[in-house]
Amino acid sequence: MSAIATGIDAVQAQISSACSRVGRADKDVMLVAVSKRKSIANIVEAKTHGIRHFGENRVDEALEKAQDLHEGVHWHFVGHIQSRKAKDIVRLQPYLVHSVDNLKLAERLNKYAEAANITLDILLEMNISGEASKSGWPAAQWKNNQEQRKNLWQEIEILLSLSHINVMGLMTMAPFYDDAEQTRPVFRALATLRETLQASLRIELQHLSMGMTNDFEVAIEEGATIVRVGRAIFGERD
Ligand SMILES: *Cc1c(COP(=O)(O)O)cnc(C)c1O
Repeated sequence: MSAIATGIDAVQAQISSACSRVGRADKDVMLVAVSKRKSIANIVEAKTHGIRHFGENRVDEALEKAQDLHEGVHWHFVGHIQSRKAKDIVRLQPYLVHSVDNLKLAERLNKYAEAANITLDILLEMNISGEASKSGWPAAQWKNNQEQRKNLWQEIEILLSLSHINVMGLMTMAPFYDDAEQTRPVFRALATLRETLQASLRIELQHLSMGMTNDFEVAIEEGATIVRVGRAIFGERD
């Protein structure tokens, strides 16, 4: 068996055992194979081994790959998006954009989606860890900083009113730790934020996109509905 097939089997087994530890069903966790910097040949191999969802983090690379391969696969966009690239994101017609991290970007995506006559499914990226290097809405203090919370709530209410984007949930990236257990509070805080938003705004946020190669098992235990896994499937990137 190829390294990619072996990787997929191992990741799926880990997803299964994480689910069973907390009484969840495997089918409630979507695996997005993050194929950035990997070749179409590698992606086709993963597809042959049952993967249908692929994630990319550069707009040009994603557009190129989506042109080469569109039958039977769904493209997810997981990387930081510059405002001027909003139109290209809409052209990609991704299955889901995980990384919408500010209101201005959301408004531009909405405008181009309207012009293209599509509705774009998106997640809102939250900076739960508070690391300066991370994208996302400032949300490290959402529980006890009234101003941060008020700002977040206000912007989400505006987002919800946009006609051509559909807010499907929240996404975050945890800091890197050698011990994945240390990511747990970050994932737990995102899950609690989702519940709080659902109750207070009376909305449904279907997805929690959290967990990568280093920490996806912990993320699943904390309620991830989507995990974004690259290296454990495709190997290290150049
Ligand atoms: C690269 C990337 C991943 C996958 O990371 P791995 O450590 O390779 O699993 C997941 N999410 C985002 C946003 C990424 O940029």
